Amino acid sequence: MALFRRKEKPPPVPRPISAGSLRRERRALRKVRDAKLRDLGGLMIELYRRGAFREDLVAEQCAQLVGVEDRLATIDAALSRSGVDRRCACGAPILRGARFCSACGRAVAALRPGAGAEETVIQPPVEG
Ligand SMILES: [Zn+2]
Repeated sequence: MALFRRKEKPPPVPRPISAGSLRRERRALRKVRDAKLRDLGGLMIELYRRGAFREDLVAEQCAQLVGVEDRLATIDAALSRSGVDRRCACGAPILRGARFCSACGRAVAALRPGAGAEETVIQPPVEG
């Protein structure tokens, strides 16, 4: 029974997928989902008209929809994870698009290499 004794699964290899391509896939999947929902509604009405409910047809459509929903949930989770990936020096997660840390107020641009177009200018104290 060596087949059933294997406890270790090979760890899933995380594929480097860009957030952009995930968002594109999500947009496409939402369209597919909406179309399938409409199809399902149309199917139900057609079956009602004919007075013959076909559970197999409905189940097939629902199964496809559940598959799409599952994939959408996976993408949503992946995208929200990537959104809080970066952390400030204080340990707080940095929200996507934020310019300052929401916890300590540090400028976020300084943490991002290559994005430091703005420079912090320290003014000498004004005398008088
Ligand atoms: Zn902070």
